Amino acid sequence: MNIGVLALQGDVREHLSALAESDVLARPIRRPEELADVDALVIPGGESTAISNLAVSFGLLDPIRKRIADGMPVYGSCAGMIMLASTVLDGRPDQESFQGIDMTVRRNAFGRQIDSFEADVTIDEVEGGAISGSTLHAVFIRAPWVEEVGESVRVLGRVSSGPAAGRIVAVRQGNLLATAFHPELTGDLRVHRYFVEMVRAR
Ligand code: GLN
Repeated sequence: MNIGVLALQGDVREHLSALAESDVLARPIRRPEELADVDALVIPGGESTAISNLAVSFGLLDPIRKRIADGMPVYGSCAGMIMLASTVLDGRPDQESFQGIDMTVRRNAFGRQIDSFEADVTIDEVEGGAISGSTLHAVFIRAPWVEEVGESVRVLGRVSSGPAAGRIVAVRQGNLLATAFHPELTGDLRVHRYFVEMVRAR
């Protein structure tokens, strides 16, 4: 199984190590030729405007969109979630996304006063999944939230308490998985293991 981590900007190394700890040897992806060699892709957290710019200049925007349309499993955390959204609010006007998940996300949604915070996320039961029926302690850094999802999107997780209680922060649509938080920073491998199971199932 070959999993790539999009290595244009962001916390690439942290995702590579979380995957290694989940027993998958993942590799950084910067060029279309490297993308062609992988079965699945992780889009890291970072800055979606920078990832968007670099994806355009590295010639990766259309190849990644095409692989997504062909069913390649992709997991995006934070900026990666924004890169998977069909609609982005509070984005830069020229910001592109890879599309894929039928949802509206709002960038930096939690507000400046809580730029970075930790909160528990209630994870909905996922049949046979590694993140089933539990709570996950999550780190949010200038994170987006999901304002709206289409019918084919499954909501996997919501903030469980505090001012943002109930906000959608983890979703799945088919082979695409996205979280507004960063499991690659906390050492909790359940989300990565869940993604690896998705890739295996495909
Ligand atoms: N605010 C960032 C963006 O718009 C996301 C932050 C993150 O990935 N930690 O891309």
